[in-house]
Amino acid sequence: MKKLKTATNQIELGFFQGILQQEGINCLVKNEFLGGASGELPVNETWPEIWVADEDLHRAKVILENIEFSDDTEPWHCGQCNQLIEPQFAVCWHCARNVTPD
Ligand SMILES: [Zn+2]
Repeated sequence: MKKLKTATNQIELGFFQGILQQEGINCLVKNEFLGGASGELPVNETWPEIWVADEDLHRAKVILENIEFSDDTEPWHCGQCNQLIEPQFAVCWHCARNVTPD
């Protein structure tokens, strides 16, 4: 397995996991429950890491690179499932539809 990405928070982690699962890529999360150790370890060593199988690494990287991050500063609602989405995301993590707000 290879490390694909480090997520800086649980929202980001769930978002990346959802995208990968929708693409049929199995991922393993390391450090997911280490958040409580913050203060004892350097904070960037407690961030959750997303690992994928060697053969999926390239495809997973391409998928994540193609996610467009929005510059909007307000949370927005997905046009398909009405999920409230954090402003840094241009793709709905709930249904993975790329629906930008009006
Ligand atoms: Zn949605």
